[in-house]
Amino acid sequence: MRIIISFDDTDSLEGMCTTYLGAKVVWALMKRHRILDFPHLIRLNPNIPYKTRGNGAVVLYVSLSDSSDFEKVKNEVIAQVATLAMIQSEATHPGLLFIKGKPPKWMRQVAEKALAHVVTIKEVEQLLKKEKNVEYYKWKKGRGIVGACAAVGYSLLDYSRWTYELIGYRKPEMWGTKRQISRQSIINMDYKTMFTFTNYDYYNDVSLIDPHGKDPVLFGIRGTTPSYVTAVFRQLTFDEPLEMWMLYKTNQHTNIHYFNRTLRTNFSELKAFSQTILIGKVVKKFPEKKKGHLKFLISDMNGCHFPCLVYEPSKQFRWVIRQLIVGDYVKVGGAVKRTKEGELGLNVEFVEILSLAKSYEYHNPLCPHCGKRLKSLGHKKGFKCVKCRKKFFSLDKRITEIIRPLMEGYRYLVPQSALRHLSEYFDWNVWRLYRENTQVSEETTTIDAHAFLEKLLSSCVPNLHPKRSKIG
Ligand code: ATP
Repeated sequence: MRIIISFDDTDSLEGMCTTYLGAKVVWALMKRHRILDFPHLIRLNPNIPYKTRGNGAVVLYVSLSDSSDFEKVKNEVIAQVATLAMIQSEATHPGLLFIKGKPPKWMRQVAEKALAHVVTIKEVEQLLKKEKNVEYYKWKKGRGIVGACAAVGYSLLDYSRWTYELIGYRKPEMWGTKRQISRQSIINMDYKTMFTFTNYDYYNDVSLIDPHGKDPVLFGIRGTTPSYVTAVFRQLTFDEPLEMWMLYKTNQHTNIHYFNRTLRTNFSELKAFSQTILIGKVVKKFPEKKKGHLKFLISDMNGCHFPCLVYEPSKQFRWVIRQLIVGDYVKVGGAVKRTKEGELGLNVEFVEILSLAKSYEYHNPLCPHCGKRLKSLGHKKGFKCVKCRKKFFSLDKRITEIIRPLMEGYRYLVPQSALRHLSEYFDWNVWRLYRENTQVSEETTTIDAHAFLEKLLSSCVPNLHPKRSKIG
């Protein structure tokens, strides 16, 4: 019997992570049942105010060895959620689903909406109540059922895209303490590997694989295939014991939250907390604020203006924004948010230059006798040479076009440290080319996830708790 287990909203800033719960359940289930795919970690709309960190939900696809095991498995998972979820935290509202057989098709629409807009608990629950093969459980408000449904629905999208993340978890007694993982080892690992991404932000000298909160994650390595992230995992060294690890199939770094979200008109209909791409013309630039915040207006095809905002954490990306001038045509992507002043604006995450406006510099002409730059005698009153002391009345100002330092057709992104989980930083064209021209040993669509995870577990077990660990 095939079942799907999906859950969300189990953590808080005080601890836990939904993926940790996922890993615990998977390792427990694998002893008796078959995992049909790597567990899914599905990131949803990154602008949701209820999120703890990366707005991720977890889905497990399991084949039960006997259908009579369903009740037992269900009760075990419910018990795990009840024990591990941070239910005492004000903002934690777990939700859990069990689906027997195929998932309902409407979950696909929920996923589509949940990737870039807001979905209510009510709209999801109304649909869930009609399903005979779905059992759902809520703790407190049970908001987690929104993410749980959307995460299942993600696999039903015909444009779903996938990457992988191998996450190492700390032992509970280490939670909340400084992570013992050497920066140099992360840099070394990053230099040596291909097709993993967002390991290190070299512009800002920040490691990106290890979070900084009280959650149980020691590191997460993201990449294109299970083999690549596992190979990197084996190269990493750290100074604290791992409790366990898990390899997730995810939608991270796929830009999926931008799919089908491009607007050229109707900027006035944009709603807070949504994710969008706007195409328009830069019509106004505002002076830079003291803290380094930037603002400009773009106009849609109907002349409706929308503010675009770029804050200090966007770091080097602000240089690009400073170079924009009125008249440039741009594609800007980001989150629609309400500012402190109450107006809606786009927190810009990338800008693509569609066409650059021409910009000119005006210079006084050179003296025809001595070559020195002439001085203007006033509007239409001619020029004077301060060296030869001659006056010229028939010369005009020289006009030269300024070479703009931006490239048409190029997409400029915030640095990696300012990226959201769903945002793409990786050049997929390089990956496609590589796959076309080489034999990538593993076909991710046919891989046996259960066997892969079992091998990963057994090959890494001897090194689980060494003082200075080097996996593999
Ligand atoms: P972590 O990634 O660390 O596990 P998180 O950032 O995923 O945590 P949660 O604690 O899971 O944050 O909270 C997110 C909440 O928002 C969940 O209840 C989820 O169901 C809900 N949610 C997710 N996407 C949407 C959406 N598009 N509309 C409304 N609610 C959503």
